[in-house]
Amino acid sequence: MKRKVKFKPEMIDNPPPKMGFPAPDSIPRMPTSPIGSNIEELDEHLKKYVQILLDNGADDARIISAREIPQDPRVLLKCHSPRCPFYGVSGSCPPHFSTTFQQAKENLSAYNWAIAFRLDIPDEVIASLTGPGCTEVFATKEGFHQYGSLLRYLWRMGDAAESAAYYDGHYFAINCHFGPCLIGCCEEFGQCQEIKTGKCRFPLRAKPSIEQSFSPDLMKLATRLGWKNHMWGYCAHPQDFPDDYTPFAIGLVLIE
Ligand code: SF4
Repeated sequence: MKRKVKFKPEMIDNPPPKMGFPAPDSIPRMPTSPIGSNIEELDEHLKKYVQILLDNGADDARIISAREIPQDPRVLLKCHSPRCPFYGVSGSCPPHFSTTFQQAKENLSAYNWAIAFRLDIPDEVIASLTGPGCTEVFATKEGFHQYGSLLRYLWRMGDAAESAAYYDGHYFAINCHFGPCLIGCCEEFGQCQEIKTGKCRFPLRAKPSIEQSFSPDLMKLATRLGWKNHMWGYCAHPQDFPDDYTPFAIGLVLIE
């Protein structure tokens, strides 16, 4: 029997960020640790980040060695062949930000640990992500907002783990943001300021394209983690998915 994933309205309806610095009293207070943790502390930290992800809505989160993340040079090509609908519209995406596979390998090899997490997608959301209905995302204001909300909902979980890791002394920790920052950050503006003026509206939020930065093959990673996966696309109708498949979005936090 098909598993019912709980729908939360904020998954598809939450406000885009406001420009400028947040009010000081809205900034959370976080304890800091000395830089340079020993192996026991690191183990404790990684488990803490898993719990943060779960507490923030992830449906599963796994600690893995960064060496287990498969990379493939074709991930770089996938940004423009076939063209991602968001190719060229954000300063964080190619061709404005691009790299080489060699650089992506060097970037990932600098990390030792990662946490892969997943967000299961409820029936109320999946039709806007796969099948003919997902064209609405690119065609309407409501579609943009829904997609932007989902990106923000997903990013927030990993960002919480990234912040905790940073203050624990893992200052290179990064939560990979999948999806265009034009939608996740600049939804209200409709165009990228960085491309126009060289200055990003959300320098503390926008992350460079993870496909370009690390070239991870997330399909292969999900399969290795035992997370059964199916292809999504305009032709893949959600009602054709088998009952034992729960669609999910994947996230990745790199640490150390
Ligand atoms: S200005 Fe907006 S769209 Fe452009 S890089 Fe910054 S966050 Fe992304």
